[in-house]
Amino acid sequence: MTTSPGAQRRTAPRRPRTALVVGGGVAGLTAARDLARAGLRVTLVEASDHFGGAVGAHEVAGLVLDSGAESFATRSDAVPDLLEELGLSDRVVTPHPAGSWLQLPEGAVPAPKSGVLGIPADPTAPELRKPLGRAGVARARMDRALPARVGAGERSIGGLVRARMGQRVLDRLVTPFVSGVYSTHPDELDVDAVAPGLRARLRELGSLGAAAGALRTASPAGANVAGLDGGMNLLSERLVRDAERLGVKLVTRYDVIALDRDPRRPGWMVIQRQPVNGDKTAVARGELLVMATDGPTTVRLLGTQVSDVQNFTPRSGPRIALATLVLDCPALDSAPRGTGLLVSDDVREVRAKALTHATAKWKWVAREAGEHRHVVRLSYGRATPRGSGPSPEVTLEDKHLISLALGDASTLLGVPIEPEQLVGADVVRWHTALPRTDAGHSARVTGFRRALKDVPDAAAVGAWLSGTGLAAVVADTRHQVRTLLKHHGFDVTPN
Ligand SMILES: Cc1cc2nc3c(=O)[nH]c(=O)nc-3n(C[C@H](O)[C@H](O)[C@H](O)COP(=O)(O)OP(=O)(O)OC[C@H]3O[C@@H](n4cnc5c(N)ncnc54)[C@H](O)[C@@H]3O)c2cc1C
Repeated sequence: MTTSPGAQRRTAPRRPRTALVVGGGVAGLTAARDLARAGLRVTLVEASDHFGGAVGAHEVAGLVLDSGAESFATRSDAVPDLLEELGLSDRVVTPHPAGSWLQLPEGAVPAPKSGVLGIPADPTAPELRKPLGRAGVARARMDRALPARVGAGERSIGGLVRARMGQRVLDRLVTPFVSGVYSTHPDELDVDAVAPGLRARLRELGSLGAAAGALRTASPAGANVAGLDGGMNLLSERLVRDAERLGVKLVTRYDVIALDRDPRRPGWMVIQRQPVNGDKTAVARGELLVMATDGPTTVRLLGTQVSDVQNFTPRSGPRIALATLVLDCPALDSAPRGTGLLVSDDVREVRAKALTHATAKWKWVAREAGEHRHVVRLSYGRATPRGSGPSPEVTLEDKHLISLALGDASTLLGVPIEPEQLVGADVVRWHTALPRTDAGHSARVTGFRRALKDVPDAAAVGAWLSGTGLAAVVADTRHQVRTLLKHHGFDVTPN
């Protein structure tokens, strides 16, 4: 049977024309931009008064600095490709190669460079002798002799490292790294969520060290992170600017409290908390929906529409506080601890979990700060046992946290720092920006995505699904948006 072109026109499903994105972090901004580039009219709603989420700026002592993320992993092309599209490629810079240090109870040592997540690729490397001691090295070396199946069933990084390389590698190398980066204990961190492919490599190569080394060499040579001259906050700024150019309707202070099917047309509608009377943005609509908030919020909002989604109950992420100090301190010109330190949980006299010496790490920060002026950023919010609440430091008032940070900076950097040397300080607090990816997380993500497959006009993106870090967030967001667009008949060329 043949059909006339007219009949075909009548029956062919109409392609969606509008899209709604909820959450204006890098995931939401990237999604909105890609949807707009495909020709859709896009509305992006964001709860706070600014876009960028964990990638933003703050001003301290006249310097514009990153308030959250300050670098991106170079293991994939996802971020470099996006930066190129946004005209930011010429701003890409690498950190100073001096590397970071580890603060252990007996003092500071340069952090071993090989491996991933602090897992040493070569347990015989001389740089491990100091942090591990003779017995620790001997135990770590057993990794090579143990059958590949030992630890292969472990779901957490802690369980895996303990089984293969012993408690000392876990306490002295892996825990400071994981706590510094994820604010979580390795026993609470899903292997597959933070190191995809590690367990498969272990099975294939027979040792955890070899598996960690293989993941590391799979990254491009050179530094494994890069940043932007001017700060990663430029990424958010350019994404916003480009979204505006593409006609995206960008709405801040729009805290979505409910999501529903639009009763008037195909698609979705959301409502915000306390809409201003007569405000046209009180209801926002879109035929396609992209959720780009933290996990608990997306599950709460989407769960009313997709019951299977409720099976995934992501826990709120750890609370962290960053204290940035600008110091007039010539003694720091020699960068006594390289680009900064990760602090072992066993160090009692310091409460910070990590310190970044930003003027030693990034040339552009040193240039902006000027001679003998230094920027250090201390992060607080050590992992606490499950159910025991946030670490006490994150609840301190700003002024108390700043004075704690001054003392910690002095101890960690091994240089006396007096309060008179403090030129300016700021505290930034993050409550939902770091997702909690405890054991079993990646399996739950798979389940969530399977449930969402039954809802062809919606997608969900963000760090709680892709894994923490800009490389993972950008790559996954673009993949999810491409899949959504393709499903609706858009001709999507690779980015
Ligand atoms: C302090 C810190 C330092 C980091 N450093 C690095 C680094 O150096 N390198 C790196 O690669 N990664 C780093 N990360 C991780 C990286 O920044 C994040 O993985 C990434 O930015 C997450 O982006 P996102 O869009 O998924 O989430 P977010 O940035 O958290 O954005 C989610 C957005 O959704 C909004 N939202 C939430 N609920 C609602 C609602 N109901 N209605 C409307 N909007 C809502 C929020 O306000 C927020 O703006 C860091 C993270 C933090 C917190």
